[in-house]
Parts: sequence; C-alpha cells; structure tokens
Amino acid sequence: MAEVSNPVQADSPEARRYNRIRRWLGISDFAVGFVYLVVLLVTPWSGWLRDLAYRMGSQNYSLSLFMYLLLLLAIGKVLGIGLDYYGFRLEHRYKLSTQRFRSWIWDEVKGFLVGLALGTVVVELVYFTIRQCPQNWWLLAWALFMVLFVVLAQLAPVLLFPIFYKFEPLDNEDLRRRLVMLGQRAGTRVRGIYRWRLSEKSKKANAALTGLGATRRVILADTLLDNYTPEEIEAVLAHELGHHVHHHILKSILVQAAITLLGFWAANWVLHYAVDQHMFEQLSDFADLPLLALVSVVLSFLLMPVLNAYSRFNERQADRYAFESIASIEPFISSMNKLAEQNLAERTPSKWVEWFFHSHPSISRRVAAAEEWNRTQSMLPQA
Ligand SMILES: [Zn+2]
Repeated sequence: MAEVSNPVQADSPEARRYNRIRRWLGISDFAVGFVYLVVLLVTPWSGWLRDLAYRMGSQNYSLSLFMYLLLLLAIGKVLGIGLDYYGFRLEHRYKLSTQRFRSWIWDEVKGFLVGLALGTVVVELVYFTIRQCPQNWWLLAWALFMVLFVVLAQLAPVLLFPIFYKFEPLDNEDLRRRLVMLGQRAGTRVRGIYRWRLSEKSKKANAALTGLGATRRVILADTLLDNYTPEEIEAVLAHELGHHVHHHILKSILVQAAITLLGFWAANWVLHYAVDQHMFEQLSDFADLPLLALVSVVLSFLLMPVLNAYSRFNERQADRYAFESIASIEPFISSMNKLAEQNLAERTPSKWVEWFFHSHPSISRRVAAAEEWNRTQSMLPQA
C-alpha cells in the first residue's frame, strides 16, 4: 500500500481572517443577548413589559405570557438584526454564499416564527408546572422538556429542516449500493440518504446524520455530491454511519438530559433566591423569565468547552469507524482537504480556539489521525 503523506498545508490569511471574524461575531451575539437580559432584570423594564403583556393579553395568564415572550423575542431580534446582517454580508464577502437578500430576509422571518413557536411551548410548559406544583416544578418541567426534545429530534428532519431547505431521496444507484454494503458490514441499516439542496444558499459542503427511529437518515449536501468523487463521498458516508453505529444521537440526548436537569435545578434555586430578595412577588410572575433565560445562557456558555470536547470525541470515533470501513484511506484525506478549502475552514486553529469553539477536531488533526491509522495498518501482517 502506498504511503500517504500530505505535508500540513498552512492556512491562508484569508481563512484566518474569515474564521476570526466569525468567532467575534458569535461572541458579540452572545454578549448582546447577555447584556439585554441583564438590563431587563436590573431596570424595571421586565415589569413594564409584563404589564404591557397583561393589557395585550386581556389579563389572561397564558395569553399574556405568550405576549410577553413575543415582546421579549421581538426586541431581542431588533437588537441582534445588525449582527445577523453582518453575518450574511460576511459569507458573501468571502464568496461562500449564494443566497439572495430576499431569501435571507425570508429565512430570518421563518427563523423568528419557528423560535417563537418552540419558545411558546417551552415557556407555557414551564410556567404551567410552576403554577401547578411550585415545590417540584423543576423536576416535572425537566421531564416534559425532555419528552418534547425527543419528539423534536424525531420530527426535525421531516418538519423543521424542510422549512429552510429542500431535501429529496438520493437518486444515485452507485452510492446507494455503497451505503448498503457499508451498512451490511456494520450489521446495521440507515433508512435513507437524502440530497440536501444547500447550493441554493451556500457554496459550503456539509453532511449529517439526523433523526431518530423512522426518521433516521444521512443528509448529503448537493455541494458535496456534485464535487466529490464516489470514493470521497463514500468516506463521508462511512463517517456518518460511524455516528449511527456508535449511537451518538442517543448518547447526546442523554448528555443533554443531564445538563438540562442541572439547568432546571439551578433555575429553581435562582428563582427562589430572586423571590426571597423581593425582585419578584412569586415564582409564577413571568417578569422573571429573563432570569430563567440568563441561567440557561450562562450555563450553556460555561459548558461549551465540555460539550465541544465530548463532540470532538464522538467525531474521532466516527472517523475511526470510517477508516476501518473504507478500502483506502486516501479518499478520506482528500475529502477532508476539499472540505477545508470549500468551507474556508482553518486547518490548524490555535489550541485554545479549538478547545473552546470547535465541535470537530481540526482538519489537520483528522488527516494526521488518518495517516497514523494507515501507518499502523500497513505494519500489521496481511491476513
Ligand atoms: Zn461527524
């Protein structure tokens, strides 16, 4: 077997700059949200919004809660729209986007409505449990939230994703056959491969394993399907199949359940503290919603490095599965290099950037792992 050796390619100044700006964009977005919530809580504004919501909702609790959430999200959107637009322009500036302005606006509207719909279900549920059993509301709310989460994970590929992208069953016999063979070797079966029409909006390539049970499927961006060799696509498929074989979606849901339990416990503690401090008259006063949101935002921020480390662990596992299932390591390496180029990814981000921000190991590490695996394999006696 030929020795594969790719010298580590240095990142272009362009890739460095693009990724640095995107990171700052993410940090700014987080900061705007954080400051917004803090300002609502330290000023009387959250109380004013609640009173306004009660007038809009004709004093009906559930309707007023919905109005309050609507106001909260609408003001948040106004505050964040500048950064969103900057993000849209950034993709164009680096020639990574094919999306027209009108389509982007439409996506923003749809994203807001989806967020409002999901947010409504969650906050109505939370305040319902607070009113029904103020003692143990957080446990009940957590259980209901997790049921919702699992249902949503199942419905996402058929209900949520199609709101933003078109999907169609993959019409490619050669690739189907390759997947069936990969699946047979693994003693498993993925129910479907779908062509994801990403090219309408982006030049970047992507692939993912999504759904639960009957909706479990691999989605492959057309930007990948149309530009990669069958062997390279097979390598990507093998990686996604690795996620399936190692039950990564189920495991991630379990991790999510543990974190959410911690979150609800902390939220309960903070809310009681706030009521004791006379910030609010009672737990069910929904002017305290920004405090709940703040607990969730701070917790997500603190846990980001841990969750990213866990995700990188899963990605390495899926990569290893791919190495073992494909005939040659070379298409895997070339697909990684193509991905880096096409997505303007940093092959070698600084250590702390990778540690804090990245859900995937850097391309240079993934390629190095593939080469290392290849070396150890070629040293094994041939059967
Ligand atoms: Zn992956």
